[in-house]
Amino acid sequence: MKRTSHIHELRKMIAEEKERGRKINFVPTMGFLHRGHLSLIAQAQQKDAFLIVSIFVNPLQFGPNEDLSRYPRDLERDVRLLEEAGVDALFHPTVEEMYPHPMVTFVEVGQLDAMLCGATRPGHFRGVTTIVNKLFNIVQPDKAFFGQKDYQQYLIIERMVRDLNLPIQICPVSIVREEDGLAMSSRNIFLTSEQRQKAQILSKSLAAAELSIQTGQRSAREIERQLRERITFESQGIIDYAEVRDASDLSEVTEIKRPVLLALAVKFGTTRLIDNKVVEVKQNV
Ligand code: AMP
Repeated sequence: MKRTSHIHELRKMIAEEKERGRKINFVPTMGFLHRGHLSLIAQAQQKDAFLIVSIFVNPLQFGPNEDLSRYPRDLERDVRLLEEAGVDALFHPTVEEMYPHPMVTFVEVGQLDAMLCGATRPGHFRGVTTIVNKLFNIVQPDKAFFGQKDYQQYLIIERMVRDLNLPIQICPVSIVREEDGLAMSSRNIFLTSEQRQKAQILSKSLAAAELSIQTGQRSAREIERQLRERITFESQGIIDYAEVRDASDLSEVTEIKRPVLLALAVKFGTTRLIDNKVVEVKQNV
């Protein structure tokens, strides 16, 4: 696997691969890799494509009281995993390489960035869209892969690419879970064993809500009430949000008729976890 921290080296490498007629596939990450990331990598390994993975913990997307300094990192372990997975190149820039001087230019995807995670984490998605845009400009990939674990992020990136006519195909990848249902996340390492146990309630409450919809419940407020009740009763997790939204644009829903996103953000101690499920209504119920 090739490896560089420098933009100019990466650009040179990519130019050579393009010259050979290869497509460029790209998986941006913040590292501390797990099976969720590896699933994106597996999807991105396509014939004739040169696969680049980036690892960069982007300060711009962390709020002042968030976990930037304690975000887990282990570059050497990540390198081993990427080599085993057969990735062609790793780009792991420093903060100085990506932000050599204070930024005054930002990319913002309006509306979508203000709700759900954006409401609790002001500026978060502006940080995400700005770094993803910078990475897209550096890598100029044909395809980029994003996990549905961060469903709102995926929709925002897809919208950004559409609105700005970026010639990049955004490929969504399904959520990868632990055996007990917990969505894989680099932040799961912060959970105590008791919190880890309680955190199962996220996927369990989503499954119960899905069943409730599939057996006829059509009221979005009632589904939200059920989600909240279950999470509060069974885990004492502090709910940031538990919402039913339109799966295509995250708009508010009253009656469930079209595919909906059941979206959760819940705090266990100092660790905030997110999870979601897209539910398509079976028409004959
Ligand atoms: P991160 O390193 O957490 O910024 O994630 C990098 C990419 O991996 C993002 O597109 C995430 O949505 C995706 N990802 C993270 N966890 C999972 C998971 N459990 N299943 C699928 N994709 C994931």
